[in-house]
Amino acid sequence: MKTLLKKGVESMALTGLEIYKHLPKTNCKECGYPTCLAFAMALAGGKTSLDKCPHVSEEGKAALDSAAAPPINLVKVGSGDYEVEMGDETELFRHDKRFYHPTGIAVVISDSEDVEAKAAKFDDLEFDRVGLHYVTDLAAITNDSGDAGKFKEAVEKVAGKTQKALVLVSEDPAVMEGALGAVADRKPLVYAATNDNYEKMAELAKANGCPLAVRGNDLHDTAELVKKVEETGHKELVIDSGARETSQVLADLTQMRRLAVKKKFRAFGYPTIAITTKDDPQEEIAQAGVYVSKYASVVMLKACEKQQLLPLLSWRQNLFTDPQKPIAVEPGLYEIGDASEDSPVYCTTNFSLTYFIVEGEVEGSRIPSYILSVDTGGISVLTAYADNKFSAETITEAIKKHGIEDKVKHKKIIIPGHVAVLKGMLEEESGWEVEVGPREAAGIPKFAKEKFA
Ligand code: SF4
Repeated sequence: MKTLLKKGVESMALTGLEIYKHLPKTNCKECGYPTCLAFAMALAGGKTSLDKCPHVSEEGKAALDSAAAPPINLVKVGSGDYEVEMGDETELFRHDKRFYHPTGIAVVISDSEDVEAKAAKFDDLEFDRVGLHYVTDLAAITNDSGDAGKFKEAVEKVAGKTQKALVLVSEDPAVMEGALGAVADRKPLVYAATNDNYEKMAELAKANGCPLAVRGNDLHDTAELVKKVEETGHKELVIDSGARETSQVLADLTQMRRLAVKKKFRAFGYPTIAITTKDDPQEEIAQAGVYVSKYASVVMLKACEKQQLLPLLSWRQNLFTDPQKPIAVEPGLYEIGDASEDSPVYCTTNFSLTYFIVEGEVEGSRIPSYILSVDTGGISVLTAYADNKFSAETITEAIKKHGIEDKVKHKKIIIPGHVAVLKGMLEEESGWEVEVGPREAAGIPKFAKEKFA
């Protein structure tokens, strides 16, 4: 890392004291910090932004530009509802704060295959799981035929089949020019500028208002190539170190993120793209999973089957949630199947994992039922019980609030076996008869058949 900093572009990070020199030093506190020095330290650490100080001179702003810039630029690909945002990340580790922009999943469509069939299949890659909607984000059209007309035709066909964002993959500027002209309003990612073509590719991407991927031969070469492309005036970039072997790609992605975030190394202050190489679908998904974990902004892969992509999208979903916020479902009364006034009423928390496990088991019992999801702030049964958020009072409040009495003619509610201790208190508080259910959700089908079938 040190060698790279010495050989390539210098680190642009400013220390707190360097920033302080450019501040007014009046300690007026308008930025929310007690002194200009405290503000300078916070700015150096990326905890505030320069615009919070209204008194910085124009010269000061120019000098502090690099300190104020985000460590990784935000780059947008696509248009309208299907725009994919990438970059603008500030952390190396998710638990330090969070990761913000989920890795875009780009599925390759070759101009040498049945383009319309593959594009239709790609467009259909959407999933609903535990109340969340997962989608693949980009179609990457590759020019395997080497024919400019065929490539343009393929790009037009894909654009006609899907509104999702596009990546146009060709290193021949003449081939790119024809296809790009047909879909420039969709703001595709142009892949890629290399040492041989970067001037023409940068000119094309800039003229059409499109982001440009820059592919070097290794990290050093990539840093130098990014500088050259920046000098053409185009700065909406996505970078590819050129590595294709999994461990080298991982090492490069990690170095680029580390240098951008910790050293504000501007040549790597852009989103990144990684391309899978494995032919076996399972191996390819595992390889893509590595790149999603650290730290690709886009992963380009061939897999296009739902069963192949769902694990990857689930993994991405797990990584890009806020680790400080439990994933919760909306508290309320949920109807499972064709529930009637005689249907059983189960009660659980609104922690999404708990809720969806219970929902799956209730569905599996094949007995139409209601589930009362109590607002516990998205935490699980035992934790919520320990924190007094899943108590006789909160369950009673939920019974009243969500109108169960209007839905069923009985007054019986089933609580999780783990909180059997609540039975007496809940009966007293709510006036409902309380049945203690199984300790684990997996016991629900057997329990339901014995009691209600
Ligand atoms: Fe200093 Fe500006 Fe903050 Fe005032 S607002 S204390 S001048 S940094």
